[in-house]
Amino acid sequence: MRLVVVSNRVTIPDRHEKATAGGLAVALREALERHGGLWFGWSGVVGAARQLRETQRGNVTYAVTDLSEAERESYYLGFSNRALWPIMHYRLGLTEFQRSDYMGYLGVNRRFARELAGMIRPDDVIWIHDYHLIPLAAELRRRGVTNRIGYFHHIPWPSADTLTALPFSATLVRTLAAYDLVGVQTRLDARNLVDCLVMLCGAKFDGRRVRLGLRETAVRAFPIGIDVEAFRRLAAASVRQAATPLRATRESLGERKLVIGVDRLDYSKGIVQRLEAFGQFLRSHPEERGRVGLLQIAPPSRSDVPEYAELDRMSDEVAGRLNAQLGEFDWTPIRVVKKAYSRTALAGLYRSAQVGLVTPMRDGMNLVAKEYVAAQNPADPGVLVLSRFAGAAQQLGEALIVNPYDTHEVAEAIRTALAMPKSERIRRFEALYQIIEASGIHWWTRCYLEALAGEPVAAEDVE
Ligand code: UDP
Repeated sequence: MRLVVVSNRVTIPDRHEKATAGGLAVALREALERHGGLWFGWSGVVGAARQLRETQRGNVTYAVTDLSEAERESYYLGFSNRALWPIMHYRLGLTEFQRSDYMGYLGVNRRFARELAGMIRPDDVIWIHDYHLIPLAAELRRRGVTNRIGYFHHIPWPSADTLTALPFSATLVRTLAAYDLVGVQTRLDARNLVDCLVMLCGAKFDGRRVRLGLRETAVRAFPIGIDVEAFRRLAAASVRQAATPLRATRESLGERKLVIGVDRLDYSKGIVQRLEAFGQFLRSHPEERGRVGLLQIAPPSRSDVPEYAELDRMSDEVAGRLNAQLGEFDWTPIRVVKKAYSRTALAGLYRSAQVGLVTPMRDGMNLVAKEYVAAQNPADPGVLVLSRFAGAAQQLGEALIVNPYDTHEVAEAIRTALAMPKSERIRRFEALYQIIEASGIHWWTRCYLEALAGEPVAAEDVE
């Protein structure tokens, strides 16, 4: 069997690059190297050439294609990021639908299928990733591809009732029946997705598989993980070496405690609500003022989508207001840093923080929650405060679980976390660590690929 991976963006590894601490890209690359394979997708380049380019690295071929400016606008910025992303995160008010964007989305999927179909061999197993490429299998089937094809949906799958607000949702959902296996992050996502196929498309469900017309599709939850051991080592080394961002952060904190948030600047992450909750915590517990600081790392993302530009402005405004209201001449309660840090720097910062504040309004999984746990010092671990609306909350019940819409609840959880006795911190940490270790990224790729190949797996069924 040869493995074919398809994703919206493809990054071709440097010839001499050493694998870093993990992450999805590295795990997929390792799976491709194990089986020999092909990775197909967008180069990230926008231009008129649109030629397919192939690069060989060992036994893996990277085949990339460019998008035209119109394709980037309609397929990527438009339908994927202004319609599918918000609606799948339950944000109907932010969902912007344009027919021309949807046509562009279908057009790129059709073109990808045309370019990819010519490269498919009879023994290939095809694994397609994420919401940009939902109709790709249907387009491949139209071109006569009969191989096993799987899809993994990295973001939440909303209820049928929510998704029907999206025009053409039934047509889009129907294309999922072209897959042999559809994987999602949680059981709730799986149940919602099956509901959509049944209610919007008239599919039949027998508890394991969905039947639509002549096709049968398995729908299962495969919660994605991280390379726990690699991340743990990275964190320990980062603290030992006291690299610059970490040393500087510690020096500026002095004896103060650190609460950390790390998220792409995205409205699904609840950053503004989190800042407000931290402000509420300081108002309710004035004795904590001057004794703790929030560091929010928020690298900008999708800046040419208007809703993201608005969030950028709002987060500055809220942080500025709270600092002005609550700060002292020698203490700034909130620091928001809008740039990306290396995994090594993050690992060290996680380990130095007494509280990891992970409070998305909705999130497929949220790997930062798992990384925060992996990075802790087992002898003196910090406390994870986690939104019940992150997929990770389905696994990480020993975190302090909060509703991010309830500012007071999040504020009190920060207080509880900071005051938690060491014995309880250790007990919770050990339970969480065990779970993330048992369902790491290598377990995830193996389970998914075994299921796609039709072998029995230990992953969770829908019911
Ligand atoms: N990340 C990073 N540098 C940063 C901020 C984030 O490398 O400055 C990484 C982080 O370590 C994590 C990933 O980006 O592995 C974010 O994954 P997550 O599932 O939390 O959210 P997503 O961005 O995929 O929605």
